[in-house]
Amino acid sequence: MKVLLATRNPGKLAELRRMLADARVEVLGLADVPEYPEAPETGATFADNALAKARDAAAATGLPSVADDSGLAVDALNGMPGVLSARWSGRHGDDVANLELLLGQLGDVPDERRGAAFVCAAALVVPDGPEIVVHGEWPGRIVRAPRGTGGFGYDPIFVPDGEERTSAELSPQEKDAASHRGRAMRALLPHLHALT
Ligand code: IMP
Repeated sequence: MKVLLATRNPGKLAELRRMLADARVEVLGLADVPEYPEAPETGATFADNALAKARDAAAATGLPSVADDSGLAVDALNGMPGVLSARWSGRHGDDVANLELLLGQLGDVPDERRGAAFVCAAALVVPDGPEIVVHGEWPGRIVRAPRGTGGFGYDPIFVPDGEERTSAELSPQEKDAASHRGRAMRALLPHLHALT
């Protein structure tokens, strides 16, 4: 059976395909279906955004559809940048500006109060069927200077609990195994298996 992952990110597609390799589920991406209008992400929570994207995808294609939304929640900023993570500096997707602004804001915050977590909500919407939302969290802390060249976004300044390396210094496999997105996608697996 076919499932649509409403993303143009090849890394996310490859990750879900690996997870479903033995489940006789074919995972399509947005590049594999006719284009439809994609609404801007304006929800108040990761779950709202993930659900809205999965609903739009299911309505447009008639396929069971999965979508995710994620970001960084910093304790000293009361959970921000949160759903604003991708546009924290005011420019959507400017990873360097977003990261530098965050580091500046945390300049005077002592080491013991630099806790943060990457958070991901993943939604599965089945046309004329159930809607399921699951969450994954990856706790850690924000360091004072960027390190590493892997990953994207805030990875160079995030050190996961139990690690000394930033998430930009982990291999893609290490990141998949521990990350908020990996955890959320794994929580969806039983629901995807139940469709087959
Ligand atoms: P999206 O849900 O993939 O669109 O991610 C939203 C934003 O959250 C990204 O632009 C990044 O700023 C941040 N983000 C989400 N996941 C990660 C991650 O795994 N590493 C670093 N930044 C992330």
